[in-house]
Amino acid sequence: MSNYIARFITHKDYKCNHCHKLPPDFYGDDGDGKSRTPVIYQEFFEAYEKFRVPWGRPINWTSGYRCLYWNDQVGGSPISIHVFGLAGDLECKSNEELEGLYKCILTFSPELRLGKYRERIIDGKKRKPFIHHDVGYEIIPRLTKKWRRGARWTG
Ligand SMILES: [Zn+2]
Ligand SMILES: [Zn+2]
Repeated sequence: MSNYIARFITHKDYKCNHCHKLPPDFYGDDGDGKSRTPVIYQEFFEAYEKFRVPWGRPINWTSGYRCLYWNDQVGGSPISIHVFGLAGDLECKSNEELEGLYKCILTFSPELRLGKYRERIIDGKKRKPFIHHDVGYEIIPRLTKKWRRGARWTG
């Protein structure tokens, strides 16, 4: 059974791979009994939907939200946007598919911050290509100038 938290995004795609949790405030947590998801998450999911619709086929998320423990375990930056629940890693089957999806995101959600990771051999093991996408520019105040709209990098 797929349990969707947003259009095209399942709970399984997005939750922390280790503890299966969502960000602590995901369903609202001000103690007033009113459940609401902060707008910043909706902005992240909407930016995804904008390129996922024209892309037209399922995308495998290998990492969405990460709790602090898990982010540390996987060697993420201590201020990784994943710990805010505002980033996703999108696995591709080949470098060709990677380039296609990257181009699609540039066309439909150019404001996203994007990291492009081509297929690579790391410690004798093949790492599948993936695209990191996030809305780190929505986080205020900024901890680094890199949290700007349209930031690009490769890894
Ligand atoms: Zn966790
Ligand atoms: Zn990532």
